[in-house]
Amino acid sequence: MDAILDATGNPSSVHGPGRRARARIDQAREALARWLGLDPSEIVFTAGATEANNLALHGSARPAISAMEHDSVRAPVGDRAIYLPAAGDGQIDVDEAQRLIDQHQPDLVSVMAANNETGVIQPITNVASIAKNVGALVHVDAVQVPGRMDLAPITAVADLLTLSSHKVGGPKGVGALVIRGGTRLPALMAGGGQERYRRPGTENDAGIVGFAAALTALEDGESQRVRMLRDRFEAGVLARCAGVRIIGHEAPRIGNTSCLALPGPRAETQVIAMDMAGLCVSAGAACSSGKVAASHVLAAMGLDDDIVERAVRMSFGWANTIEEADQALDILEELCRGWSKRAA
Ligand code: PLP
Repeated sequence: MDAILDATGNPSSVHGPGRRARARIDQAREALARWLGLDPSEIVFTAGATEANNLALHGSARPAISAMEHDSVRAPVGDRAIYLPAAGDGQIDVDEAQRLIDQHQPDLVSVMAANNETGVIQPITNVASIAKNVGALVHVDAVQVPGRMDLAPITAVADLLTLSSHKVGGPKGVGALVIRGGTRLPALMAGGGQERYRRPGTENDAGIVGFAAALTALEDGESQRVRMLRDRFEAGVLARCAGVRIIGHEAPRIGNTSCLALPGPRAETQVIAMDMAGLCVSAGAACSSGKVAASHVLAAMGLDDDIVERAVRMSFGWANTIEEADQALDILEELCRGWSKRAA
């Protein structure tokens, strides 16, 4: 990426530097397609998952989406969507989804593969077959999947699939929408003919190359190591912080996420206290932090306001060690002790 950032040449130009930029993008697209088991023509690079989700949804007249989707799925459809409710464990309520999809006959059904706040894995294959029975397109926001669970069964049933580079350790501000062969989708923006007219604008070649490099460098055993860290951390929190609740743990989850309601002040205050102690966590979705609004994901699960207001999300990654997981525990134990003293 460093070398490419210094290179001139618009990938659409026919001169040498332009052709070299085009070749770099082509190679990255091919590497990504090989990794995903897709045809390179099915990948449309975007400026991240937000744009990919908007592109996937904006042409739908009658979308149905899960109530736990990221704001970049919810906001583009707003009131025109049918909302598929969550069950208390954080998975979509499949029976209710079936009833609503049969009743309303949507043209597109969008359900994320794994939730970014709780880590709960959604039953995509079931939902996809319900959607296909009424002839709807299936869109899956799969940004949380690569490196954490198998993407192949999801790619097999999705017509549209969203990916984000920074979720796999790549650069921020780049992502992709996979548009499976034969799926027709109107472009979101008008302009040039880049990305086969599906996403106009000069390509971010350094970002695209970084994205492909990060995704294809994911290591097989790493997700088990991260899950072991998360599970060790959660077992420790349950043992050392009285009154803690782990949200979503009754359902299958990806191994990096831990959503905790600790007995303490509101989540925003907890996040600041943890940050000052050296622990970087989020209240709800990181992209919405700063907002005072409670998490729509946790509210959709029917959790009490008191739990929703105190929920913080911890994520473990390849850069984390056992020592850090244990350090995080020490910090939480200390903070919880202080909070319960103050409450007493
Ligand atoms: N979808 C989910 C599930 C996310 O967690 C995020 C970001 O956190 C996005 C979409 C938006 O991704 P981006 O920041 O690449 O636009």
